[in-house]
Amino acid sequence: MRTYTKDVTLIATDGDHDLSEDEKLRLAAAGVVMIDGPCAPLRTENAQVVVPTPRGELEFDSVYPALGSVIRSELAMAIGAKGTNDGCLIVDDHQRTSIPGLYAAGDVAKGLDQISHAMGEAGVAAVTIRNDLAVQNVLLR
Ligand SMILES: Cc1cc2nc3c(=O)[nH]c(=O)nc-3n(C[C@H](O)[C@H](O)[C@H](O)COP(=O)(O)OP(=O)(O)OC[C@H]3O[C@@H](n4cnc5c(N)ncnc54)[C@H](O)[C@@H]3O)c2cc1C
Repeated sequence: MRTYTKDVTLIATDGDHDLSEDEKLRLAAAGVVMIDGPCAPLRTENAQVVVPTPRGELEFDSVYPALGSVIRSELAMAIGAKGTNDGCLIVDDHQRTSIPGLYAAGDVAKGLDQISHAMGEAGVAAVTIRNDLAVQNVLLR
């Protein structure tokens, strides 16, 4: 049986949701439906996304596939760069880490994880690198 749903639905594709009771209660209070897996493979049919679930197939208008990031800051941390508990590098307002000459931008740096933010930070880092180098040696523009 296939059911079309407009409910906001949180799907764990591989198995059971790994959520605390408190998280489940908060999701339920917000009206979010939780479906445990296995839910695969997803497919599209007639402009709908069809998700096979243990409760039958569900049809959605859209699916947001995942969220999150893996912070690859091990190398920077290994040389002593300061970071947060979740591995993001701490930077100043000019993208300098705590190690002189090491700069960070994007998801690896503490802050908002979005493309526009990463690009902006990269621009700031590039200008800062140039200006920091110019302190050591005069650089002509
Ligand atoms: C599912 C999902 C959906 C998202 N949707 C949006 C959205 O709609 N809008 C939005 O603004 N942002 C979105 N984001 C966030 C956005 O993708 C990130 O904020 C952005 O890509 C960060 O850019 P970045 O350059 O810091 O990192 P990345 O884009 O992750 O680039 C880092 C690169 O470094 C490479 N790398 C890692 N380690 C090494 C290594 N040791 N050696 C060599 N290369 C290495 C990786 O392979 C990768 O190519 C989404 C993220 C996810 C996961």
